[in-house]
Formats: sequence, C-alpha cells, structure tokens
Amino acid sequence: MLDGKTILITGASSGIGAAAARLLADTGANLMLAARREDRLKELRASLPHASNRIALFVGDVCDTTFSEASVKATLDAFGGLDGAFNNAGTLGEMGPVPDMSMETWNHVVATNLNSAFLAAKYQIPAMRERGGGSIVFTSSFVGHTIGFPGMAAYAAAKAGLVGLTQVLAVEHGPENIRVNALLPGGTKTEMGGDDPAFREYIAGLHALKRMAEPQEIAKAAAFLLSDASSFVTGSAMLCDGGNS
Ligand code: NDP
Repeated sequence: MLDGKTILITGASSGIGAAAARLLADTGANLMLAARREDRLKELRASLPHASNRIALFVGDVCDTTFSEASVKATLDAFGGLDGAFNNAGTLGEMGPVPDMSMETWNHVVATNLNSAFLAAKYQIPAMRERGGGSIVFTSSFVGHTIGFPGMAAYAAAKAGLVGLTQVLAVEHGPENIRVNALLPGGTKTEMGGDDPAFREYIAGLHALKRMAEPQEIAKAAAFLLSDASSFVTGSAMLCDGGNS
C-alpha cells in the first residue's frame, strides 16, 4: 500500500523509527531517514541492501529551526515528492520533579518533542498538498495521556501537546486529503528507557498485557496510519500501549 510512496521518518537511527524504516523498506516505499547519528543511519541503510536505492539520509537536529524545511527539501530533491511523514524523534530529557527542573531542560524537551512537530507540519503540509494529499504521524506517548509519570513533566506536557496539535491539523487539512494522527506507544524496548531489568519490569506492569512492546509492534501501527489502510482515520490519538491496567 506504500509502494512508490515517499515517506520521511525522523528518529530513524534507533528504536521505533529504525523498526519503521525496516518495515517500510519492504513495502516498496522511498524513505528519507533522519536523525543526528549519521553512522547509525548508514548502518541501517547497509542492513537493507534490497532497498538501498530507495533510501536517502538526512543528518540533523530537530531542535534546529531549519531542520524541517531542509529535510523536506532534501526529500523533494531525492524523490520528487512527499506522501507521508513519521515525526518520531523524541527525548525524555533530564527527569526530575518540577521544582528541581531547570528551564533549560523544559525548553529542550519541549523543543525536541513538540516545537519540532509544529515545524514539521509547517513544511510537510505544503509538500503533501502538491501530491493531492498525504499522511502525517506524530509519536506521542501513553505518558501524558493515560498516566502521570513522576519526573516527566516536560515530556508529558509536550506529548499531550502533540495530541492537541494533531486534532487541529486534522480539521485544518482534512479538506485537502491530508490526514494527521498521533500514535501513543506504551513502554517499548528501545534505548530511550534504558535496559535496566527492574525498570523494564515496572513499566511492563503498567500495561494490561504485562509486557513492554517490541519496537516492531509500534512500527506496524505507524505503517497503518501512514498507509491507505487508515484512509478514513484522521485526528486520532491512537493508543498502542498494551492496555491501561
Ligand atoms: P530511541 O532513543 O531509540 O529513539 C529516539 C530517536 O529520536 C533516535 O533516532 C534519535 O536519533 C532521535 N532524536 C532524539 N533527539 C533528537 C534530536 N534532537 N534531533 C534529531 N533526532 C533526535 O527511543 P524510541 O524509539 O523509544 O523513541 C521514539 C519515539 O517514541 C520518541 O518520540 C519517544 O518519545 C516515543 N515513545 C517511546 C516510548 C518508549 O517506551 N520507548 C514510549 C512512548 C513514546 P539521534 O540520537 O541519532 O539523533
């Protein structure tokens, strides 16, 4: 369903974004993979030799206000259009209670997770308009939606903000056949939360399925939202969190 479509993925160097890249590479889509760690992006592309001529790389920091415009331009230059965007880059930042949280931490976490989404939409929508439609997916989180997680105030506020942004964009751009959805993963086994077994067991216990997600399970939900399989889905906050327990 994505054969010949062009998809931009941010946060593609590891975890959920890398899993999405592997999954979408098998669909015949053209992929622009973006992140800061160029070595990891190159390793990923090398691991997908069957798709390497359909994969381009963009190295940059989503906190840089030129990132979105430049990454869209690079995508248009490489593939001639943009049909979908998985805006997935994110960070937990330095965690701690609000009285101890610095303004710098707050600003960094909000810039990475939320401001980047505003800029993504600002430049991706005009490119999708040229194609007669498209699909934008933001990676939000169960944190800030179904659970208040201590120490994550900036992260939760930014991820909840993505849901509000999604709802407005969906209404603004539905008439142009541009769909916008937020994907809310539960605890997922990636670099983000670290690999401490006790912490992973705690997170697993928060979900009805009593386990954490594999990155590929979240990637499948992203692929659904990016593809025509979800052609009547827009403005949604799609939980993919193993159930709230
Ligand atoms: P990872 O740490 O594996 O991936 C994070 C990705 O974001 C990396 O590719 C990283 O690339 C990129 N990234 C981070 N900061 C920046 C930046 N400033 N500029 C550009 N790229 C950046 O974790 P996940 O795969 O788990 O995270 C993916 C998304 O899923 C995030 O938005 C996260 O908040 C969300 N999420 C994760 C959950 C979990 O339990 N893991 C649960 C719910 C949501 P690089 O460092 O190379 O730039």
